[in-house]
This record gives sequence, C-alpha cells and structure tokens, in this order.
Amino acid sequence: MPRPSLRKPGKAEGGEPADGAAKASVTKRKANDELDGIEEPEEIEEESKPTKRRKTRVKAEEEEEEEEPAADQPPARKPQRKAGKGKSQDAMALAPRTPIDALKKLMYIGAHVSAAGGVQSSIPNAVHIGANAFALFLKSQRKWTNPPLAKDALDGFRTLSHEHKYDVHKHCLPHGSYLINLAQADKTKAAQAYTSFLDDLERCESLGIKLYNFHPGSANGGPRVEAIWRIAKKINNAHKATKTVVTVLENMAGQGTVIGATFEDLRDIIRLIKNKDRIGVCIDTCHAFAAGYDLRSPEAFQETMKQFNKVVGARYLKALHLNDSKRPLGSQRDLHANIGTGFLGLRAFHNVVNYDGFAGLPMILETPIDRKTPDGKTFEDKQVWADEIKLLERLIGMDPDSAEFAALEADLSAPGRAERDRIQEEAVLKAHNALAAEVKAKAAADKKKAAKARRRKKASS
Ligand SMILES: [Zn+2]
Ligand SMILES: [Zn+2]
Repeated sequence: MPRPSLRKPGKAEGGEPADGAAKASVTKRKANDELDGIEEPEEIEEESKPTKRRKTRVKAEEEEEEEEPAADQPPARKPQRKAGKGKSQDAMALAPRTPIDALKKLMYIGAHVSAAGGVQSSIPNAVHIGANAFALFLKSQRKWTNPPLAKDALDGFRTLSHEHKYDVHKHCLPHGSYLINLAQADKTKAAQAYTSFLDDLERCESLGIKLYNFHPGSANGGPRVEAIWRIAKKINNAHKATKTVVTVLENMAGQGTVIGATFEDLRDIIRLIKNKDRIGVCIDTCHAFAAGYDLRSPEAFQETMKQFNKVVGARYLKALHLNDSKRPLGSQRDLHANIGTGFLGLRAFHNVVNYDGFAGLPMILETPIDRKTPDGKTFEDKQVWADEIKLLERLIGMDPDSAEFAALEADLSAPGRAERDRIQEEAVLKAHNALAAEVKAKAAADKKKAAKARRRKKASS
C-alpha cells in the first residue's frame, strides 16, 4: 500500500470526483465497484494474511488517524464538480501533464489511480491528475476469484494508452492484491495465493504491461528462511508459466514477521530467482523510512542508496512509491503522509527526484487524498495528487539552499509540526519504557538464578 493510499472502497472514483454528498451515490458506486470487480485501494498493514485481527487493527488505525488533527494535511479544497456526461477527463484535467523533455531529469511521476469501471478507466484517471506514470489494481482486492479481463477493457486500455501516449510497458506499475501471500505455508492457501498471483501476471501480459509490483509476503511467525524459500519458489514457477512480465518486490515497513523490510530480505529472494531479468524491486519511501533507512539529508539518502546498490544491486531497481511518513524513522509503521508534511519532509523528496539512478522509472504517489468539507463530509480530493506531481516536478533541479525551496518546505512542514513533535516524544518514551522493562526483567532473572544457586549450594553442604 498501499501501499496504495488511504482511499477506501465505495468512495469516489478517479475521474468522477465525489460530489461531497449523497449516501445514495456512494451506495451506487459501491454497487458499480462490485459489478466491475475492481475496488479502490485501502490502507492495510503489511501482513498479507487477511486475518480478523488485522482487520481490527486496520480499523483501529483508521480511527486513530481520524482522531489526529488534520494539521498535517493540506487544507481541504472544495470537492470538484462532477464531470458532465460526454466530456472527457482530459478536458477536465486538474493539471496538464508536463512533457517529460521539459523536465531537467527524466522523472516519470504519477499516482495509484482508480480502475473502478475496468482497467481502461485508469488511463483517463491518470490524465486527469497530470500523471506521467500510474499504478492500478488489476482486479478486486477482496475477492479470490475475478472474472477475466473483458474484451472492451483490454481494447480500451490499449487504445487509450496509445492515444494518451503512455508507454505502459515502462510507466505503468500495477499493484498486486493484498490477499496474496506467497510465503504462505498452508498448502491450500498457498495454492490459492499462487493462482491469483499468476492470474495477475497473465493480466499484465495481455495488457502489454511489463512491471508488476507486489508485497513479498509474511512468514506469519514462522522461520524467515523458509518463507523466503517459498516466495522464491512461487516466483520461479510463475516466471516459467509466463513470458515477459517482471515481478517487482516492494520493500516493507517491517511490522511483524513480514518479509522485505530489509534490503537483505530482498537480496535473499532475488538470489533464489532463476531468471534474474524478470525480478526487480520497488522502493517505497515511507516503508524504507519506517524500516530504518533514512532519506532525509543528502548524506543519509546517499548512504541508503549505497546500501541498496551494495546489498541488492542497482540493476534490480525498477520503480518507486513516493510517500511521506506519519511516523518517525524506524517506527515500522506503514502510515503514508502527503509529500513534505510528514517525518521525511520535502528535503527527502528533493533527494529522490534529483537522483540520476531513478530517471526513467515509474514514480507512484500513494499519498492520502481523503479530505473533509467544512461540514465534516469526507471526499477524495484528486487535486492533492495533481498538486503533488507538480510539486515534485518543480523540485527537479531546484537549488535546495534557495529561498524558493525554503518557503515550500516551511509551508508544508509547519502545519503538522506540533503533531509530529508529540508523536516523536511518544516514540522516545515508548523506546525508553521498553528498555527499562528489559533491564528490569534481566535483573529479576539474575536474582532468581542467584537464589537458585544459593539454594543448591545450601542443599549440597
Ligand atoms: Zn507502496
Ligand atoms: Zn504496496
């Protein structure tokens, strides 16, 4: 995930911005989503197994987020008016696409857009926000079985991508279903996961898409090496059953026994892959930061990339997910924030969009776009993505010591500062308490051991 951002099913779709009202329209969209078999992405914790416990946690997290003051979010804009019937998304674009050759570096920046209504709708949705790259879900995120791609979806995707000059071979990065856990040990569940994974890859190939991004999987408490071995085996089998698609492992934030939070995990999977031309990595900036890889200063960023190149290898880097983080470095929490408003900050993204090694790769925003109207209604504000794309493009070649950069950075970081300070303090306190508890437990164990030794000595004398 997000992980594709914080959008929830049943909410406004790309290109059809919420009218900010009517439960009826939400219900209608929900019905449409179900019909079309493709739903909006939502924020989920990293464990791939959709357990009841996780659902509760996700719910709790959503609530927790809602409790957070909206200070770290850009001010809510008025919901966009619905596009009139017959008018193309293009004509209604929230921002024009920047010609790539007008940028100082070839950075293809876009977002994870909705494919509700069929995969072909992702194209106008990408055009709508001025994206030069995009991500989408290829099928429903909540169902194991999905109808095959309809002919009109297939034809529509091809025609529209050609018409709008998207090279989907290079700059379209579908996101795998959250249901799929290739590390699954249970035979039946593993077979189900593999079938769905392979089906996704086949969809990519029939759409002419080369890159397919997915979460490596979760060991669900089991040994790491076995989980890695199972993941690699499934990928190898899927490579054999398909021809061209490149399977792209996303780095993870590191909660629980999820695989992929360290560069070493990614390396170890790649080592076991027979066809090295068909395996790659997507770096999610929020996940990397949550897992302890710093990107904030130019030095820290260089160090992280040096690590990546040394451990994984630059040749495997295929894509990026651009997200700021609502939690501090090493928090292991996967909470995406809008660019420049989180713990990463704008300087990190200046580092990212000016790094030559990322040129030509799809860069996908998965930032939250849920906003509230003054009367408390939630709607999806796609203008946020349109603006973030332009902001990131503007950072390319910008002098980070300039007054222009300082003003942008201050504008974005100031509103959420108090909230971030509070979270940072909490994190320090938590770490302190954890250490104190560890010290106490050790002292108690030592005392017990000493008492036992004394008793033994007494008994023998
Ligand atoms: Zn991501
Ligand atoms: Zn993801």
